[in-house]
Amino acid sequence: MRRKLVAGNWKMHGAFAQNAMLLDALRSGTASISNVDCAVCVPFPYLFQAQQKLSGSAVRWGAQDVHQMDKGAYTGEVSAAMLRDFGCSYVIVGHSERRAYYAESSHLVAEKFLAAQQAGIIPVLCVGETLEQREKGITEDIVAEQLDALIQLGGVQALRNAVVAYEPVWAIGTGKTATAAQAQAVHKFIRQRVASHDGQIATGLCILYGGSVKANNAAELFAMPDIDGGLIGGASLVADEFLAICRAGVRT
Ligand code: PEP
Repeated sequence: MRRKLVAGNWKMHGAFAQNAMLLDALRSGTASISNVDCAVCVPFPYLFQAQQKLSGSAVRWGAQDVHQMDKGAYTGEVSAAMLRDFGCSYVIVGHSERRAYYAESSHLVAEKFLAAQQAGIIPVLCVGETLEQREKGITEDIVAEQLDALIQLGGVQALRNAVVAYEPVWAIGTGKTATAAQAQAVHKFIRQRVASHDGQIATGLCILYGGSVKANNAAELFAMPDIDGGLIGGASLVADEFLAICRAGVRT
């Protein structure tokens, strides 16, 4: 059975004093939570603080983006090796906000994914459709294109030690969660598509759901057979809410 993972995405939120309280609460609150991996993906400037506060605890930490090159004249960018220096276990790649606001293509996202993996960081590949795409009935086509770009560039083995997060764009930050059945259907599609290349990798693949997950809907989502946890935005900024979501992973 796959282990559940609950990962927070702080997005561009946080302040030093406020983070300290949140990270301390997560550190102590997760001490009693077993069988669920918990992580927080924080803005770059707070990686050192996350490392200081969470080292030796059950909570792992990571970043929300990475550059595809390992070094060079790329002003303002951060490499996977730099994330490794701060003890990152995870990095999110291809979040819909980056695809939409920074025009990140599926090919570029695949390059970022592989750069992270080569540095020993577990990439969290975000995929998902917009409301317009869902209404047009092309959800699977969109998700397939986002997934296939990685498989074409890195081969299916790139998914051996990786995470895929299905995040319908219409559910992110909107309070409009996909129903458990809607999410399960896409998760099953993702697993089957990977299985068409390698059944063993598909069976082991951790597929998270993201999009307005809260303490009151997490258990129902996490109970679905192909939902292996959540990528949590807004609710990851509130310790009690995030911890309750992590606990929902224990019960499912
Ligand atoms: C996210 O930012 O990836 C996300 C899922 O946000 P929220 O939980 O706020 O919808």
